[in-house]
Amino acid sequence: METIHLISLGCPKNLVDSERMLGLLERSGYALTEEAEEADVVIVNTCGFIAPAKEESLSVIFEAARLKEEGRCRALIVAGCLSQRYGDTLRRELPEADAILGLSDVERIVAHCDRLLGHRRSKGFTAECAAEKGQVKAAVEKSGVGSSQPLPFSATSAVSAVKTKGFSSLPSEAICSNGARHLLTPKHSAYLRIADGCDNHCSYCAIPLIRGPYRSRPEAALIAEARALCEQGVRELNLIAQDTTRYGEDLYGEPRLSGLIDALSKLDDLCWIRLLYTHPAHFSQDLIGCIARNEKVCRYVDLPIQHISDPLLRAMNRKVTGDDIRNLMQRLRSGVPGIALRTSLIVGFPGETDAHFEELLDFVAEARFERLGAFTYSREEDTPAFAFDDQVPEEVKRERLDRLMMLQQEITAERHESLIGTRVQVLVDRPGDQAPIRWVGRAAWDAPDVDGQVLITQGDALPGDFVSVAITDADAYDLWGTIESEKV
Ligand code: SF4
Repeated sequence: METIHLISLGCPKNLVDSERMLGLLERSGYALTEEAEEADVVIVNTCGFIAPAKEESLSVIFEAARLKEEGRCRALIVAGCLSQRYGDTLRRELPEADAILGLSDVERIVAHCDRLLGHRRSKGFTAECAAEKGQVKAAVEKSGVGSSQPLPFSATSAVSAVKTKGFSSLPSEAICSNGARHLLTPKHSAYLRIADGCDNHCSYCAIPLIRGPYRSRPEAALIAEARALCEQGVRELNLIAQDTTRYGEDLYGEPRLSGLIDALSKLDDLCWIRLLYTHPAHFSQDLIGCIARNEKVCRYVDLPIQHISDPLLRAMNRKVTGDDIRNLMQRLRSGVPGIALRTSLIVGFPGETDAHFEELLDFVAEARFERLGAFTYSREEDTPAFAFDDQVPEEVKRERLDRLMMLQQEITAERHESLIGTRVQVLVDRPGDQAPIRWVGRAAWDAPDVDGQVLITQGDALPGDFVSVAITDADAYDLWGTIESEKV
């Protein structure tokens, strides 16, 4: 049986596409392998959002190409946002790749693998017959095969020197509820992609060019998929989209996120529902009420605000003012006591002066976000901000990023310190890999991969258990504690 190795890069939205491809391949009788060296087909599911992500994608592609030259690999497939955005260029510049696929090819991945391996699929060949033969040996790594190989040519020039029209077709209602999804997350936690694409057109962002207009998935399909995931053992669902707060507008003529959350919370086995990628311009009072009254919704909201200074918010086309953001945060904090707010910020956007940046620092000091990520502005071709005057020099961007992150580290460390001696509910993710850490888990205010962890040094548990942990120590990133009682 032929084997597939997939490397998933980028954000959770891309991860869901990876899971879908793996699910379809597994169902069609391919075996999945964690070892790139053992694979007949290597798929790199790329990210093309900003320059560092593009560079990482290219680096991983070249490493995979080396496997094809030296090892067992017979076909290299490049998929995802980078190939959607720069398909023609990649086809020209990457002869090592046997297929450069667009986003709409997710659903056709089996046909592409069959073609590259010279298969004709007989009608009777199903995943069931493969499983009967005991041949499915799942599991795939989540990211890179490493990036030590020097690039034959500059990553940035490879993707930006020649403009391409890319692919015209975008995925429609890509992820189905028919179970063909191979989770790459721990089996008790999954992402639920409620929509794809974006209509917001923030001036720095290439996503609408890559993923097309906003398309919500029907509520019934989402409930069916969530139910299927819960039947497989999922206890935490992380709702994702480019903008979750717009959910339903395109399909139902009005936002329906609260209704979707209420419907999801009726699934008995589902314990945590987490809201990621909200937009401050679309965060309604109704949604705040929904979070407040629904105990299954984590007291946590991911609210990327990008900046606080009005001239910058206008230039970014964020459709809110600094006062709108302050007001929303105040309503969230008073409407949902104990809520943890995560945000992301961009420093060094064109036109950001020292005064604008100081305003941002003052705001971060006063707002005390529980979690915060920040990025330097990446100048993306074909976006409005690419042509803006007053581009900020890279060293100024870096210096601002360092100052911002140092400030946030102090805020997070102080907050963590204040939690010593308290008890928190923790979802256990996995065993620890070094003493004295027995288990690694997350509190409700920690989203997978991007936030901190709770490192447990004493007590028995299993992945997927909810336990009560007494916090004994803390640093700027993680909390430490011991299990007080199981199955809370
Ligand atoms: S909301 Fe703005 S930043 Fe987010 S994906 Fe849409 S256009 Fe990009």
